[in-house]
Formats: sequence, C-alpha cells, structure tokens
Amino acid sequence: MAFRPAVRPGAPLLRRDATHLQVGTSPGIVFADRPGLLAFLRLLDGARDIGRLRSLARERVPELEADVGATLDELLALGAVVDGPQRPARPAYELAIHSDPGGVALADTTRSILMESGLTRLSSTEPDLTVVVSCGEPSRATFEQASLWGLTHLPVVIDEDRVRIGPLVRPGVTPCVGCHDLHRADWDPAWPALLLQLGRPATGASAAALAATTCHAAAVELAVEVLSHADGRRARSVGQCLLVGPAPDERTVRPVPFHHRCACDLLETA
Ligand SMILES: [Zn+2]
Repeated sequence: MAFRPAVRPGAPLLRRDATHLQVGTSPGIVFADRPGLLAFLRLLDGARDIGRLRSLARERVPELEADVGATLDELLALGAVVDGPQRPARPAYELAIHSDPGGVALADTTRSILMESGLTRLSSTEPDLTVVVSCGEPSRATFEQASLWGLTHLPVVIDEDRVRIGPLVRPGVTPCVGCHDLHRADWDPAWPALLLQLGRPATGASAAALAATTCHAAAVELAVEVLSHADGRRARSVGQCLLVGPAPDERTVRPVPFHHRCACDLLETA
C-alpha cells in the first residue's frame, strides 16, 4: 500500500522558536524549520500519497526547496510523521450481543463503544463471538448449546451491584461455564440445585442495583475483551472472570481453570 503520511495523530503542530518546529507536547518532537516546511506539513492528511503531495507542494508551497521524499523520510524516522490513519482490520469481524431486558443498558453502551472502535457487524447470525448479557445468573442452556455447536461465547452477568465478565469460552480449547459451575459447586454444594432453577420466569432478577458509572466501566471492560478477540490477542477473560464494581474503579480477577470433572476439554478431540 502507498505511503500516505500524516502528522502524528492527536499531536499539535507548533512553532518552537525562530528556527525549530515541534510536533506534540508530551514531550514533543523537535526538528529544524526550513522554508515552506510548516505549510507543507499542513498538507499531510493521511489520505494523499507522495506523488499527490509533490504536485500539491509545487503548486501551493513553491518556497519549499527540500526534496519531499527525503523530508518525509526524515520526519518519519523522528516519529513526527506516521503512515496514514492506521486502523486494525476489524470490519470483517462478526459479533452477536444478546441481552435480557435487564442487560439492555450495558449491551447498548458496549455496542456504541465497539462501533466507535471500527466494528460494524454487531448483530451477526454467524458471529465470531457471541456475547450474552443477563441480569442475574442466566439459564445454562444457551452456553451448553454454544459449546455443542463449537461457538465462541462470552457470558456477562449483572450480579446485583457488580458485573462479571467471563469466562470467554472457545469450546474445547479454554475453560467453560461448566468448569466455572463445578468450581463453584466445590465450595457451594447447593449450586447444582440452584442452577436448575435459573432462567425460569419466577426466579428472574429484579432491576439491578448497578450504578450508572459502574455500568459504563463494565461496558469499557467488555469492549476491551471483544476487541482483544477481534484483533487475535488473548482476552483477559479467557480462563478467568473479570469483576467490575460495586464502585466503578473496582476490579477483581477470579481464575477459572479447567475443572477435572468437566468434559469440555474432550470436545476438541471428539
Ligand atoms: Zn469445562
């Protein structure tokens, strides 16, 4: 792809003194000024390639004596100029976010962050990742189905005044919701009996006690997990749960290793 230079994103272009320019202020990249350089730098928009910049410079900045290519190479090496607006290749990534009525605010806030981050397919029927947001522990049937079909899924539970994100399950590859429940049953013997009641209308959770700030904080953390998966990086919620709240700045990580009585790690070889 052609080099399409842009001044360092988010960094102001400033005159430092009579003989120097500066890009950015933290701490800033300083370089020698020369005739026409400031006007030339203002032509760099990340969309024009070098050929276009050469002809524009001849037309609009006749006082620029320095060679365009050599000047750009020098500024690129300094970091004052970068190659175009770099966006990860995310548009092809497909996501599905399901939520019950109590999870709508968290799901919508997360969608909004993901769209601003370049994800466009958020209601896919063939998703790379399915996020399931629920208010209160959901029925396990959804996750059992997803595991059987080999679909990567991420449970998100609004648990009273906090949000639990994870584990992110790649069936047969990473610890599953069944592993999570077996670990819970190890210290809470009634957990299997409680699980059987989840998802029934009579046991649905009332409106969560989640603070708006904690809901937004959880949406940011959830978006980070999705974007890690979209970019092929290991999400923090693989093999663990990330808890957000009750205060918006509270984070707790709870490991979820494979459980020896869960057969999920046999799926891959089945
Ligand atoms: Zn498992």
